[in-house]
This record gives sequence, C-alpha cells and structure tokens, in this order.
Amino acid sequence: MFCNRKHSTVFSFVRKAACAFFAFTVLFSLCSCTPAQKTAQYSVSDTPLELSIFMHAWNSNGFDDSYAVFAEAQRLTNVSLKSTVSGMTTNSQQAYDIMMASGHTADIIAYTSDEIEKSALDGAIIPLNELIDAYAPHIKAYLEQNKDILYAITSYDGNIYSIPKIMNGDVAKGWMIRKDWLDKLGLAVPQTVEQYYAVLKAFKTQDPNGNGRSDEIPFFTRDVNTATTELLSLFGVKTRWGLQNGRVTYGEYTPAYKEAMKSIAAWYQEGLIDREIFTRASNARETLFEQNIGGSTHDWFTSTMSFNTKMQGKVDGFSLAAIAPPADINGKVWEESSRAQLTGLGWAISATNEHPVETIKYFDFWFSEPGNRLINYGVEGVHYTLVDGKPVFKEELKSSNVPLPQLLSDYGIQINIGFVQDFAYEEQIMDTDTKAAVRMYQDNGYCMAQFPSLTLSPQEQKVYSTKLAAIEAYIRDTAQEWVLGGADIDAAFDGYIQTLHDMGMDEVLAAYQAAYDRYIAAP
Ligand code: CA
Repeated sequence: MFCNRKHSTVFSFVRKAACAFFAFTVLFSLCSCTPAQKTAQYSVSDTPLELSIFMHAWNSNGFDDSYAVFAEAQRLTNVSLKSTVSGMTTNSQQAYDIMMASGHTADIIAYTSDEIEKSALDGAIIPLNELIDAYAPHIKAYLEQNKDILYAITSYDGNIYSIPKIMNGDVAKGWMIRKDWLDKLGLAVPQTVEQYYAVLKAFKTQDPNGNGRSDEIPFFTRDVNTATTELLSLFGVKTRWGLQNGRVTYGEYTPAYKEAMKSIAAWYQEGLIDREIFTRASNARETLFEQNIGGSTHDWFTSTMSFNTKMQGKVDGFSLAAIAPPADINGKVWEESSRAQLTGLGWAISATNEHPVETIKYFDFWFSEPGNRLINYGVEGVHYTLVDGKPVFKEELKSSNVPLPQLLSDYGIQINIGFVQDFAYEEQIMDTDTKAAVRMYQDNGYCMAQFPSLTLSPQEQKVYSTKLAAIEAYIRDTAQEWVLGGADIDAAFDGYIQTLHDMGMDEVLAAYQAAYDRYIAAP
C-alpha cells in the first residue's frame, strides 16, 4: 500500500549495502602513486598541499584548523585544510553570499547541497562526475551500490556537484507510553489502535498518577506544527507524500483523511489529547513528565527515552517504555517516520580550485576504510580503542562533563564533510533504553521506506515553491479548526478538498508525479 515493489527493493538494498560498506571498502586501495613517490600512507599529493575550505552551515559549525581528525588526515594524505570563515561568523548564508559575490571562493566549499547546486549553475562550482570516474574509486563504488543516493545527488542537468554527508540507521521517531501507569492500572501494552484508545481512556479516567484528580494528559506532542498529525498513521494515513500503486499521493488530500480527522477530533473532545497540543511549547515533555501528567507520545527515541534518566528522583517510579506502533485501523503495523539518509549538506570543488584532481582524491579518502573510521571515531588510541575489531570511544571521553556529540565535534569527528556515517557511532552515544527502542523498530522493520528524494526540473520546482507553502498552511489551519472546534467534518470535507484543488494541489501532485516517474525510469 505504501510503496511499490521497486521502491522497497531499492531501500532494503540500501540497508544491506550499508552493512556491507566496510566489507567492500577494504578491497580497494586509495593510493595510486608508486612507493617511491609516496610521502604519506594514503597520499593524494606528492608534495604537502594546503587547500582552503569554506565550511559554515545552519549558522554554526565552522571549520577549525586545529581539528585532531584533520591533522591525522594530513599525516595520511599530505593535504591540509585552512578555513576561510572567521570564527566570529554567525550567519552562514550571509558569509556564503559574500564569498560568492567576491569571486574569491575557497578551494573546497562545504555547505548545503541546494546552495551548492545554485552556485554551480552560475559556474562557481565544478561538476564532479568525470573526476569521480577517474580518481575516486571509493565514492564511485558507493554510488554504484546506492543508486537512490546517486539519483538524489544528481542535478536535473545530469551533473553531481557535491559529495554528501550520509547518515545511516533508519529509526527516528516511535511510540512511547508510561509503563508504570499501565502496570498500576493492570493494563497490557496496547497492540492495536482500539487498545491504544482504551489505554488513553483509562489514563484519563482511572487516575494513574494517584492524586485523586483527572489531571492526566493521555496523549501529547511537543511540535505544534505536526501536533495531531502524529496520530494519523493509526488511521491508515501517511502524512504528506506517499505512493499508492505507482501514483504519488498526498495523505491530507485523500478520502481516508476525513475518517482519520473525525476520529482524532473525537479523541480530542474526549480529553484524550492534550488540550494545548497546538500551542504547547517545545518543552512539553519536560513540563508534562515532571508534573507526572503526560501519558504517551510519539517522538524521537533518542531525546525522549532519555527522560527515564532525567526523571529519576523527580517522579517516583517513572518508567517510559517504547512500544511497537499500534496496528492501524486496517491492521497494519508501521511507523511513518524514518531518518533521512541525506543530511542536505555536502562538499564541493570551486571553479577557482587549482587542484581538482588532488581534491577529489582527498574527498575519496574519506570514503575509504581508514578515512571512514577516522571521521566517525577519530584517531585510534587517542579517541577510541579497538575492542573485538570495533572502535569504542575511550572512557575519558564518555565520562566527560561535555556531552559526547559536542566533545567529538571539537575534535572534528562527524563534522559536515562528505562521508558515510557508521550507525554503530550513534549506538555508542545512546543510553541503554534508547538503544533497545531503536533495535526493536529496526529488527522488526517497522519503519516504512522514505519517500524518495526527487529531482525537480526548474518548471516543477517553480510550481512547488509557489503553491505548496500556502497549501500546507491551509491544511494545518483546517486541521486545527476541526480538532479544536468540533466542526462537522463530514459536511466540511468536500469544501476542503475543493479549496485545495483551487489552490493548485493537483498541479503540485502532477509535478511530483513527473519527477517520480523519472526517478522510477532512471537506470
Ligand atoms: Ca490524576
């Protein structure tokens, strides 16, 4: 129902390919020079070469010339990087625009793939296809084995302009419920939407927090933009883009959405959903867990499961359990969210770079086995040790007062260059509860394949960017009105669909369909 065969095959292949990544990278050797010329183990330049780099994304994360990881890379490759962005810079886009307008571009540009593509069309950044073919065996092999990534990073004109930062591991959000409340009321873990409803009802009416008041908020979320849409999957609706028999759909523009919204509005009227769900700030979890009134949510595992530790000593017996997605009204067990593999960031070679061959070889180093381990884990013996052949971060890093991800980025680990993240890295920074939750969703294959990253033509892009924002705002406003106001959704629904049609929904769908058809037809 949710993806056609080709789509799911591609994605299961991606997972297998990701697992096999380390296996096949060891088959290649990066160094193409003869031993006599060799100045460094994985040398990409006969003489020491310094390349300038612009790196500054999302108003933070500039490049620091003193990163330990990049000093080690210099030892191995003979290439060093020097940042062109001042440490005082706070506005990434402004810094990028100023550089591009000046014509004095850095040799390497690490920024959002979208902006890089725009600059490339202006001639400031060079296409990488031929360089990859000739000088980047690891990148080439990876892209050949991961066709969906290759497709997604290929511009409409057929060129690749940046090497992306790629994440691994597909679990993002999931369902969580107060296990201590279930136990107190003698209830089993809900396995279907009907059972989930019954549990929320019991949370509302049977005083699981034991204060004699019906103050429990059975279901809540912290993102006012998604709010009740977190519940749509229980009613068989995939939010936004989806696929049905090869046709691109938009969940909120399908007949199933009417019944789903009727149910969600009814749950809200019965007090099963947070009254303030559309206005509650992003600290909903802190507020509702600390007051011991929040019962269940659908959210990111990594940040939410950590409340088991955070609530120790604050809420007696607090125990949040990850549960499988309750089977939807059609009996299907599925999780809509999954983590995007592409981060939207990557790095590229500017047209003023005088060493494109060395640069692409340097990019390729980070896709080799030693480069991949270096960017994921740092320097052996300094940041990690090998335990049973697997890198494990050193105890002094894990027990530092600075949170591990931040500490690691101070060494240059996992910063925004083009590379493939090793999922085992994430597992090391997760607590035990989170790890178990992620494993449950992963091992049972609950997460549906992501809608593919489509490459829009300039005309399709225009339709998309002029119409979709208004359409989505209208969808959000209407959902809120229906849920809060207890409107007669049966009576209102046809008018809602007509309005979306008048706003250009069918044109946007047609643009996406054309882009999707090209994606399917791609070799
Ligand atoms: Ca109570």
